[in-house]
Amino acid sequence: MKLDSSPIAAIATAPGRGGIGVVRASGKQLAPLLAALFPNATLAPRHATYIAFSAADGSVIDQGIAIYFKGSHSYTGEEVLELQGHGGPVVMQMLLARVLEAGAQMGMRIAEPGEFTRRAYLNDKLDLAQAEAVADLIDASTEAAAKSASQSLAGAFSKTINVLVEQTIGLRMLVEATLDFPEEEIDFLEKSDARGQLGVIIASLERVFQQAAQGALLREGLNVVLVGQPNVGKSSLLNALAGADVAIVTPIAGTTRDKVSETIQIEGIPLNIIDTAGIRVIDEAVDLVERIGIERTWAEVAKADVILHLLDAGAGPTRADERIAGAFPAGVPVLRVWNKIDLSGHKCGVDAMDDATHIYLSAHEHVGIDLLRGELLRIAGWEQTGESLYLARERHLIALRSAHKHLAHAGAHAAQNDQSLDLFAEELRLAQVQLSSITGAFSSDDLLGVIFGRFCIGK
Ligand code: GDP
Ligand code: ZN
Repeated sequence: MKLDSSPIAAIATAPGRGGIGVVRASGKQLAPLLAALFPNATLAPRHATYIAFSAADGSVIDQGIAIYFKGSHSYTGEEVLELQGHGGPVVMQMLLARVLEAGAQMGMRIAEPGEFTRRAYLNDKLDLAQAEAVADLIDASTEAAAKSASQSLAGAFSKTINVLVEQTIGLRMLVEATLDFPEEEIDFLEKSDARGQLGVIIASLERVFQQAAQGALLREGLNVVLVGQPNVGKSSLLNALAGADVAIVTPIAGTTRDKVSETIQIEGIPLNIIDTAGIRVIDEAVDLVERIGIERTWAEVAKADVILHLLDAGAGPTRADERIAGAFPAGVPVLRVWNKIDLSGHKCGVDAMDDATHIYLSAHEHVGIDLLRGELLRIAGWEQTGESLYLARERHLIALRSAHKHLAHAGAHAAQNDQSLDLFAEELRLAQVQLSSITGAFSSDDLLGVIFGRFCIGK
């Protein structure tokens, strides 16, 4: 990856055909590019100009709209030129090639993925959490996720984090001022109500974490893996949940050879539901072909956030089922789904037992499917709070958790009789570093590489 400050250009619209397509260029100073592309016109900043896009020999490539932005009013914080032409792949390629050629003297090159947004970040147009929200908005798979990303982009999440940072700094200053006057240390904690202030910060951090954890659900969704003996109704259940025929359902045991997955939404949360080929605990009796299928299933199980263990309500649990359940990874919630109650005569319902939650339903008759959806939401930890959610990423949650840990340590130092104020102050500093990493005040090039490398080209 080359990341210098030379001017960059890329097609900013999605590949393929479209009504319009946009080529975008950004650089510290685009005057030479404008002069080469439009020798007979002067583009007024932030005005749409209908104009011909011509090749070097003067032949017209396309007619479209050109918009030029000065650095103070652009996405990247540099000068930006956007050319809107007809959105065909060949036209766009020709237009991009022309821009690169016209900018060759200035060292114009094709932009890396996310490089426009990276420049916006480096030029203080966005902080890191906002830059991430740009990608999240583009990638949003549900309306709720898009809404939440848009709020983060507008700065709602960053603002909340900055308030926490400022409160932490405020307390730190207080403590550090006292450190210079050791004789006052003793009463400091009482007089300044440092413990009370710390408690307030911890409480608001916990609320933010809650909102962020819920938002992370919206962003990441849940991996739900369907396992069970052949013919218990896994594919039928996938279909019932998805409301469409995505998996092949046949009465022949072992039809589902390869995994089939379907993403559904329950109250805006994306659930990635994975149907698997028959599962069993591998022993010598398994032939090679079956072994491969079974190993693949266990690999899916290892990545599950929730396991749906499907059983035949009429047949009851078999020894094989007990062995399978015994091999599930520890800590992953399991729903025991007893299917085919229309045949067995069991009553539809949910039964929370010690080992797992049991649900009785019929995939084929669509009875009890809503109960299952409700249980999936419950397991996901979803609560309708009505509060705004932050479409947090794993790295945000880790930073919040770590900041919480340091604040708790600070609290412990304050509670000790020796009242080690310097340790108290140090823990506050560490908490502040963690919180600030969310908006990018202290971030390494590696982190930036990871974040921006995942953007699409042209953004
Ligand atoms: P899988 O091998 O676990 O994926 O099972 P399938 O979904 O392919 O279902 C196997 C057979 O059981 C098919 O004939 C289904 O129509 C049938 N089946 C699935 N669910 C039900 C149910 O709730 N009631 C009844 N009566 N039959 C079902
Ligand atoms: Zn199946």
